[in-house]
Amino acid sequence: MDTGCTSPTKAGKSCSAAHYKDGYCRWHHPELEAQRQAERVAGGKAKSNRARAKKQLADQVMSIADLDALLCDALTKVSTGTMEPNVGSAMAGLAKTIVGIRASGDIEKRLEALEVAAGVGTIRRIG
Ligand SMILES: [Zn+2]
Repeated sequence: MDTGCTSPTKAGKSCSAAHYKDGYCRWHHPELEAQRQAERVAGGKAKSNRARAKKQLADQVMSIADLDALLCDALTKVSTGTMEPNVGSAMAGLAKTIVGIRASGDIEKRLEALEVAAGVGTIRRIG
């Protein structure tokens, strides 16, 4: 017997997946339920790990005021000897890079707004 799967779908229609054995497809065969469950759990874990990583990144984004406070704290610690100067230098270098990246992004946005206002630039060409 090599007809289609006999299991009805949630919508009440007959399943159109390819026949696997015993009148069921691979998605409906009771013998494969444990394997399907394990795959669903693995898929869910991968999905929640991605979501957690994304949230962690968002939580780590600091405002300029946060960076300012962090660097002022570092300056105090370096000057009182409670932080290694090279750690303070690394923090200052990273903060400078972050500020530079944000500044160029800000300039890009302002330039785009000016181009739109002037009727030139990328947006006008698209429209
Ligand atoms: Zn099926």
